[in-house]
Amino acid sequence: MHVIVIGAGITGVATAKRLAEAGHDITLVEPTEIGGTNNAAYGNGALVSNGFMVPISSPGLWRQVPGYLVTKDAPLAVRWRDFPGRAVWGLKFLAAGATVPRQRKLATGLAPLVKDAPALHAEMIAGTAAEPLLKREPVYYLYPTEESRRADGTWAVRKDFGISCSEKSLEDLQQSISGLPKGYVCGSTINESGYCLDTSGYIKALLAAIPAERLTILAERALGFVLEEGRVTHLRHSGGETACDAVVISAGHASGPLAAELGDRVPLGAERGYCIQYRTNPTGLTQPVMLADQRIAITPKLPGLRVAGQVEIADPDAPADWKHVEILHRRAVSVFPELEGHDADAIRWMGVRPSMTDCTPVIGRASRASNAIHAFGHGHIGFTASARTARIVDDLLSDRAPDIPLAPFSPRRFAG
Ligand SMILES: Cc1cc2nc3c(=O)[nH]c(=O)nc-3n(C[C@H](O)[C@H](O)[C@H](O)COP(=O)(O)OP(=O)(O)OC[C@H]3O[C@@H](n4cnc5c(N)ncnc54)[C@H](O)[C@@H]3O)c2cc1C
Repeated sequence: MHVIVIGAGITGVATAKRLAEAGHDITLVEPTEIGGTNNAAYGNGALVSNGFMVPISSPGLWRQVPGYLVTKDAPLAVRWRDFPGRAVWGLKFLAAGATVPRQRKLATGLAPLVKDAPALHAEMIAGTAAEPLLKREPVYYLYPTEESRRADGTWAVRKDFGISCSEKSLEDLQQSISGLPKGYVCGSTINESGYCLDTSGYIKALLAAIPAERLTILAERALGFVLEEGRVTHLRHSGGETACDAVVISAGHASGPLAAELGDRVPLGAERGYCIQYRTNPTGLTQPVMLADQRIAITPKLPGLRVAGQVEIADPDAPADWKHVEILHRRAVSVFPELEGHDADAIRWMGVRPSMTDCTPVIGRASRASNAIHAFGHGHIGFTASARTARIVDDLLSDRAPDIPLAPFSPRRFAG
């Protein structure tokens, strides 16, 4: 079967590799450099964890948001001129997980998607040049006070879902973290986790592992589809039309109009995020940590150190607002004073999380075309969920039942 995969972020490339292994011929449609700055994993936190089943929309978040919006250096910001078109999306996002039952319902859908994520990644990259880039070790969430850890309701959710987590005292942290950030006195770990030393290199290595005879790269922009009798026969793109037997939509935050043409109008938004990547790592930190109070991930890199975070609600195509990188740098220096001055030659990056109002991706068959599969909208967990998403797409195209319930991801869950 000739399958067109639209978009070569981590979702599209993982899917293309899986489908090629299943014996399909792949055309990967991507107008920008594959593994380049345009994909949302380029400068992300690079964490892979089975504990990422707690939706970002949570009870109490709506109460924190007004404070964030008037606080300098807050982890959330809005580009006000873009806000009118995004207000409804934002309100729906806040409402989705605003009560404990809603949060648990979303977590029930997400838990199977991220279950075994580090192991699935290890399987996906086995024998490829990406193998040395994935480190499997716990992710540490750090707290400035014991009260702030107790106030973080995400641990109760993880406990309820049987995720292996451990509480850590300051002494534990001092023993197990080399280069412990200043001001953090306790923490918790999600034990089945990992992180990637080079997310761009990881995507490029996955791409390189696809046998050349199975892969065509089409450096064009997908525009729409030619449909006949409920099937996509051709992709329309900036270079013309290409025939196909099946198509996968994995174009990240830009997937909305393509999905709509296939009958699925879904509330896909854009949460922009930022990173600063220092070229060296003077901190001594050798494992990834989350500063839970700041919502910032600090991850050792090849080479250097990456500090990633911030949510900016804005038009995805608007110019980056580098003040968010300055915030990340200031935060980083406050916990690692030795980073002072290292911003001068650091890499600055802005990327766009493809985010659904219910923090749950869209994975499933399109309403108007039985040979089209949606695979987008992974928000904050797309790196983690990519390996399982690729397997699900393969199952759907092979008419096999996926090994997890797909109802929570249905493109039709917003209808009516
Ligand atoms: C700051 C930050 C930190 C993060 N931290 C983590 C983390 O620690 N762990 C984790 O699991 N996730 C994390 N994420 C989320 C994760 O990076 C994303 O969910 C994931 O990268 C999305 O991948 P994707 O392939 O679905 O979409 P994208 O990476 O957006 O890829 C879509 C691709 O489609 C292409 N495209 C767009 N339109 C078209 C078109 N019309 N035709 C053809 N191609 C098109 C784009 O050029 C792009 O390359 C983070 C994100 C950010 C921004």
